[in-house]
Amino acid sequence: MFIHQNFTGGNITFERVEGDVVYIERQIRDTEGDWFYWAFCAEGCAGRTLTFLFPSTRRVGKFGAAVSHDLKNWHWSDSGSEDRFTYTFAEDEDKVYFAHDMVYLPDRFERFCAGHGLQTETFCKSFRGRDLPALRFGSGDKWILMTSRHHACESPGSYMLEGSTEVLIDHLPEGYSVLAIPYVDYDGVLDGDQGKSRLPHDHNRDYIDEPIYEVIRKIKEFSLTHDVRYVFDLHAPWHTGEEHDHVYLLHGRGRMAEPVFRFSDILKKESAGLELNYTGERDIDINSKWNGYPGGPSCRGYFCTVPSVELCLATETTYSGRPEAKVSQEALLNMGRAFGRSVVSYIESKDA
Ligand SMILES: [Zn+2]
Repeated sequence: MFIHQNFTGGNITFERVEGDVVYIERQIRDTEGDWFYWAFCAEGCAGRTLTFLFPSTRRVGKFGAAVSHDLKNWHWSDSGSEDRFTYTFAEDEDKVYFAHDMVYLPDRFERFCAGHGLQTETFCKSFRGRDLPALRFGSGDKWILMTSRHHACESPGSYMLEGSTEVLIDHLPEGYSVLAIPYVDYDGVLDGDQGKSRLPHDHNRDYIDEPIYEVIRKIKEFSLTHDVRYVFDLHAPWHTGEEHDHVYLLHGRGRMAEPVFRFSDILKKESAGLELNYTGERDIDINSKWNGYPGGPSCRGYFCTVPSVELCLATETTYSGRPEAKVSQEALLNMGRAFGRSVVSYIESKDA
């Protein structure tokens, strides 16, 4: 048996095996406090039924582990509880990937772009010196900025970004262009970091006067040199429970309050009837929970202060959902497409 993290996005510590129980734990790395991302490969387990056990109840989602044989297609194991999941390996099943959720790796976005005749560009260098990709399209002077993975582990945000982008490629309102940055914390995505609450601070907390991450410096620079009208920052929330099993928005204050409500109404209609939809019932009001004012620095907080920006919002998309609204890769993409249609509809109604 070989349990390892030797692949893009891998994150696991293998502790020991006792009988059919495999003791494992996620690596917290440079994150302060607890977080729950893990992804590992199990080899040499063919024909066995094994239980993978974590030392914490905050590790396994509603439907067990996400399972994949190629790191592209994921389904739930549908077996498990908060600290464990069980899996029966077929006789010829030599290599299986398991993860906290349906991990979205960079090659997926590259394939998506290629499928639409587009190519990513290098936006800047990542913190660890890699070429950080972004996608630009459109010929207008007004810009829509879409971002995900300010927190590396938040894959649902990238499915939302892909679904939205797909709609925008075909239905971009006249006069607009799109800049999509699918992996703001690119290193964290590739290296399998939590990314959230990194020390000294994570990418979303880097919207300060002197950012430590070049990507945040470049995003801020972009906002000064381009007419940015719309900003959508796509996150995933806490592991599970309460609003975290839903898709929800963070409401804005001041001049951003009304636009967010308006967008929310459109998104409700566009996503109605989807397996995973948005109802608005779990949104976080301003000054409620962690959506405080003034709050810490953030992408959303920063762009709310940029005068050209008409609407800036952050979404939180559940990792696993609920029995009646279960996450799958297609459900996440469909929610993303509904989001994209909402962006188009919002802009068209605004500019009409
Ligand atoms: Zn986040």
